[in-house]
Amino acid sequence: MKRLLVLAVAIGSVCSLRGQTPAPVKAVDWDRLRPEILERYRALVQIDTTAGRETLAVDYLKRVLEGEGIPTRTFALDPDRANLVARLKGNGSKRPLLILAHTDVVGVQREKWPVDPFGAVIKDGYIWGRGSKDDKPVLAANLIAMLMLKRLGVQLDRDVIFLAESGEEADLTGVGINYMVREHFAEIEAEFAMTEGGGATIDGGRVTRVNIGTAEKLPARVRLVANGMAGHGSAPRLDNALVHLGAAVEKVGRWETPMRLNDTTRTYFEKLASISSPERAAIYKALLGATTAATAERFLREHSPGEYSMLRTSVVPTMLKAGVGANVIPSEAEATLDIRALPDEDVDRFYAEMAKVIADPAVKIVPIPQTRPRSPASRLDTDMYRVMEQVARTIYPGATVLPSMSTGASDQAQLRAKGIQSYGIGPASTESDALDYPAHGDVERLAESSLYPFVQYVWNVVTEIAAHR
Ligand SMILES: [Zn+2]
Repeated sequence: MKRLLVLAVAIGSVCSLRGQTPAPVKAVDWDRLRPEILERYRALVQIDTTAGRETLAVDYLKRVLEGEGIPTRTFALDPDRANLVARLKGNGSKRPLLILAHTDVVGVQREKWPVDPFGAVIKDGYIWGRGSKDDKPVLAANLIAMLMLKRLGVQLDRDVIFLAESGEEADLTGVGINYMVREHFAEIEAEFAMTEGGGATIDGGRVTRVNIGTAEKLPARVRLVANGMAGHGSAPRLDNALVHLGAAVEKVGRWETPMRLNDTTRTYFEKLASISSPERAAIYKALLGATTAATAERFLREHSPGEYSMLRTSVVPTMLKAGVGANVIPSEAEATLDIRALPDEDVDRFYAEMAKVIADPAVKIVPIPQTRPRSPASRLDTDMYRVMEQVARTIYPGATVLPSMSTGASDQAQLRAKGIQSYGIGPASTESDALDYPAHGDVERLAESSLYPFVQYVWNVVTEIAAHR
């Protein structure tokens, strides 16, 4: 089997990786490595890398990587917000793999924390701290993968590029991925990328479900601006800007935009049906049928906003601005719509459709400039996706693996827009822990028991896809 496979690769056939034995990489002694994994992860959580302090993490990573003979380069538009790249060279027979994570974390309100938010305190089986979920597990797992590739002298068919990037959470000045893609793309150009944007769910003490992030929606926000004549509040006017705006907001807020599935969401709902309660499974299956979809959509609209949003370009009014006095008719009124477009949406055509729904020449649609590009979904038929799926089944036996589309936005957009097939990962949490201690929440924590399998997952994917065969 193995020999046949090697032969098949040699003559250039495309072959499935299903059932293939792992790459001939020396086994890692995971029990022995545990203390180091914990130490490095905690060290990263202990560095306060709220926006503007990312270079502190870069200094640590540089010291650790270079201490083991892995050269690094730093790229900084702002010296306090550096990005770090390290590359382990392969034989060039395949195009590079990029493993990346952002170093920055969102801010903290210290009074909300039961422990020091940058203490990486271990308590009740959890490691507590800002960044403990977002994004230091990925950063630590990528670091360990680089160190072990080097220590074990793993021969590579493709370069493995490590990127620690700044400013993911708030890259208003473009110091992170935008800067790297624009000014230093050659340093990170790759066939495949792996980073945050997926995750795994623990139920009844075991991982039951692993999400591989393959797509995300595109923020395409607009302002609705209504204009009319100003006037005295005692004399009603038909062209009152507030009245026109109010009607427009109601129309778009209730607009049921067309439902459209893509490869990711179709596979996602199919697989979700196979692991859901009979009632819920019936809803997901109904979504896939032409005559039954409408009823299922209506159910999700009421009971599951996140899943409803995966079906369509969504329009959500979020802000209103109008008026200068109780007795003044304002000449202008404005609303902000948070629009999240499907990856393949023609945004200009969507705005034109929205104008027809509003059907009021007094209300203009003004697009708000976006910081992320439009990005196509990553494919499900690549070697990388197959490897990630297969490794997930090995690390988390019995789990259902499914591709997922985020309704939010991430730095994968910039990579996908440049043609890199990029996939999202994340450590496992119970649903209640993910709700009570989420990324960006008042308090953030990660189960220590989730850290080790996650590091192993990253290692296995990296060696499977990049090690020499
Ligand atoms: Zn993140």
